Amino acid sequence: MRPLRVGRATRDAAALIFVGILFFIGAEWLDLYERLAAFLGRHEFIQADELFIALLIVGILGFVFGYRRLHDLKVEVNHRRRAERDVSWIAAHDPLTRLPNRIGLKQQVERLKEDGKAGKPHMAMVIDIQGFKRINDVHGNEIGDEILAVVADRLRDIFIGCYLFRLGGDQFYAAQETPLTKDWEKLARRAIKQIAEPIEIVSRYYEVSAYVGMARYPDDAANIKYLLRCALSAVAAAKRERSKEPKWFDTAIDEATAKHAELDKQLRAALKSGDVRPYYQPMIDLTSGRIIGFEALARWRRSDGSFVSPTEFIPLAEETGMIGELSQILFTQACHDAAKWPRGIRLSFNVSPAQFSNRNFGRQMLDTLAATGLSPSQLEVEITESMFVNDVQLVAVLLDELREAGVHIAIDDFGTGYSSLSQLSRLRFDKLKIDRSFVSSFLDDARQAMIVRAMIGLGRGLGMKTIAEGIEEASQAETLQLLGCHQGQGFLFSRAVPAEQAISMLQTTWPVRPENKTATS
Ligand code: C2E
Ligand code: MG
Ligand code: MG
Repeated sequence: MRPLRVGRATRDAAALIFVGILFFIGAEWLDLYERLAAFLGRHEFIQADELFIALLIVGILGFVFGYRRLHDLKVEVNHRRRAERDVSWIAAHDPLTRLPNRIGLKQQVERLKEDGKAGKPHMAMVIDIQGFKRINDVHGNEIGDEILAVVADRLRDIFIGCYLFRLGGDQFYAAQETPLTKDWEKLARRAIKQIAEPIEIVSRYYEVSAYVGMARYPDDAANIKYLLRCALSAVAAAKRERSKEPKWFDTAIDEATAKHAELDKQLRAALKSGDVRPYYQPMIDLTSGRIIGFEALARWRRSDGSFVSPTEFIPLAEETGMIGELSQILFTQACHDAAKWPRGIRLSFNVSPAQFSNRNFGRQMLDTLAATGLSPSQLEVEITESMFVNDVQLVAVLLDELREAGVHIAIDDFGTGYSSLSQLSRLRFDKLKIDRSFVSSFLDDARQAMIVRAMIGLGRGLGMKTIAEGIEEASQAETLQLLGCHQGQGFLFSRAVPAEQAISMLQTTWPVRPENKTATS
């Protein structure tokens, strides 16, 4: 009930009491009781006294009735008040984690302003959970929800005495009124560490991780409202840099975020206008020197003729969720191009870890193969080693569909992703791609040479073909061939070229033996 109504009820009661007192004084002054008794005695025949008693009883019952209705009204009002409170609680909270949401955050900022605390030093951080979306897509929303609830509980235990919000999706926001940056960094590191601990749900373990971006008021943000924007900017930078450490906001980050947004806009336009296309780098049989296939590598050519590196725009597309669309466009084009090659020439296509969040990605690839007329056995899918380190079972399930259809699977950048032998043994690969970093140094570094030798042996032992990436010198190709590496790829043979050039390259044979050093067509 509003204060205005309470005032009116009090006024009414006061007025009635006042009128009652006046009546009483008037009745006393006029000797009303004696006069009434005399009147009733004189007029016994009309039974006015009984009537009077009846009126008194009705009055008392009316009072009891009124009191009871008043009580009902009070209960009803309390119900409504509680409901109003519940509705505003629900509006300001996330039902899953029971943490305040963005509306709750807005209300908190208003409260701080009202209490005059908004001008005090504040620290803030955005905690962005990684891997949650993939779990949601692959294992279902219920598991995803439970994981979020566990993460929220862990954060609650860390941020005791702080404000904690769920911004929506997989982002949380913590803030505290404190000038101590060191303590805030400590909390951020704890959050990163504890979120990465495995989460058990119905005897299965799930893993997620977190990026953290931090900002402080008044150093970074002009006012307390702007703190969230600064922390969001910092976390976006942490994601871009794949930083395992919490990242502080600085103005350079703001500029980088703006540049990033601009690049994102340009990439969307380039996708529409067909400026992103696959180029093809040949893969060579190190014994015969002949091309056995091409790896499709994305190339974004700007209108001024300059190229944007895929190492720049592929992570961007992964981050913004555009990777599925980008990959589908590139893959369709690559299949059309490869359908013109002889059947023995294979197309190798890179799949990004982010694509594994789409459960249908294998099915879609097979549909595209069917639509373009390319045989599944002509396709090789490259996945990076780091992709199956986290969830080897999941990768196995997703790749099975492709394998069963006859598609070959290769591990890309092998030696850089920290996979264990037990993980390797649980997945069946057809090819192992030795990372460029080993190839570039193994001739001058005995330890690297031992590792390359071991990788080739491992490939052979597990019945896989081995291919060395990044061969730039003939001596590298010769030694690799002598060590038993089957295939090679690198600038020594060719850079990635447009589709028409790839076709005309098909007849080329490269001598990999020391006696012949020039390519022949
Ligand atoms: P990657 O799959 O390991 O591709 C090999 C990279 O090494 C390519 O870089 C290639 O141009 C480069 N390279 C090949 N030979 C040599 C050499 O002899 N020396 C040197 N220094 N570099 C060599 P690129 O084209 O810049 O691609 C970089 C990465 O971007 C790729 O690494 C791959 O992970 C990703 N990428 C490229 N295209 C696609 C795509 O269509 N889809 C996805 N998901 N990722 C892609
Ligand atoms: Mg590759
Ligand atoms: Mg590679």
